[in-house]
Amino acid sequence: MIEKAINQREYRIIKRKITKVVNVGKVLIGGNNPIIVQTMTNTHTWDAKSTLKQIELCVQKGAELVRVSVPDKQSTEALKEITKFSPVPIIADVHFHYKRGIEAAENGAKCIRINPGTVGTKKRAIEIVQAAKANGCSIRIGVNAGSLEDRLLEKYKSPCPEALVESAMDAVKILEDLDFYQTKISVKASDVMLMIRSYEMLSKACDYPLHLGVTEAGSFLTGTVKTAMGMGALLIQGIGDTIRVSLSAPPEEEPPVAFEILKGLGLRSRGVTVIACPSCARQEFDVIKVVAEVEKALSHIIKPLSLSILGCVVNGIGEAQHTQIGVTGAGSGMHLIYKNGEPFTKAKTEDLVKEIVRIAEEEANKI
Ligand code: SF4
Repeated sequence: MIEKAINQREYRIIKRKITKVVNVGKVLIGGNNPIIVQTMTNTHTWDAKSTLKQIELCVQKGAELVRVSVPDKQSTEALKEITKFSPVPIIADVHFHYKRGIEAAENGAKCIRINPGTVGTKKRAIEIVQAAKANGCSIRIGVNAGSLEDRLLEKYKSPCPEALVESAMDAVKILEDLDFYQTKISVKASDVMLMIRSYEMLSKACDYPLHLGVTEAGSFLTGTVKTAMGMGALLIQGIGDTIRVSLSAPPEEEPPVAFEILKGLGLRSRGVTVIACPSCARQEFDVIKVVAEVEKALSHIIKPLSLSILGCVVNGIGEAQHTQIGVTGAGSGMHLIYKNGEPFTKAKTEDLVKEIVRIAEEEANKI
């Protein structure tokens, strides 16, 4: 109830651009549908068993779609098993070898990602579209600043928003000429400003759903910061229908970061959101340690739950008014725990983690 009230405040409202709706299997992307979180495996796709294991781990962490590379025929063969047992629809990532796209569509992929810079001639694109149509697949036109077509690099001299958007819109035209509209688009770059300006321009140029990403964003810390800046700037403007955080880290670490970005803007809710102070000399318990232990203990909760953990009463009581569970340090060594903004109980320092976890689990079970 508190979450709802917060999200309804005027200043928090983000007016999303209403795009066309595209299906990736049972998952709807665009329109008023939730912004979908996806990730990509890094196992050899031909190793169906390992790939499925990684897909399941990513899904447990929040992935709603998973993309797999299909660089060879062995990989598209493995898609038969992967798509049969995967808990979420699979997107096949195709570069250079357009026949892999056709095989992927025939073997159960629900979306084919093609890169206009690597897929080659229009004739090849036509064959992929025919296979997509015949098998109920959507297509993502995935433009990347690092692999633009030569003609665009010659025209624009270096990757720029105009070049990325022209690449995307040329591919859109090919698909539309073939009467194909189940399309979503990305114009990714590792340069945050290039990524932001490209998506802004693309959003004005078409109504297709957009897949946001800062590509090759870097390590967990660097990549998370760059992605949050790039995606955040766009999501606030209502741009973006599906997102992938690209980190040089295990794939299962990407969906939680994606959800934190969406949660931070009130666009999705999932799991426990912890508001915590950095602590200072006023802290009445070890805030950093308690937060780390509580987050770990509650990481299995999927239902949305807000929790504030503050070291003293300076901001603790105020934050507790706006979260479902609030904890604030008290000088007596008996810390205060609030529920739905009201004082609920007290806990000693040594029992604090156990007590917060118990109450949070109880609350999550009620939702
Ligand atoms: S809430 Fe209290 S302990 Fe936390 S940073 Fe503020 S003053 Fe320091």
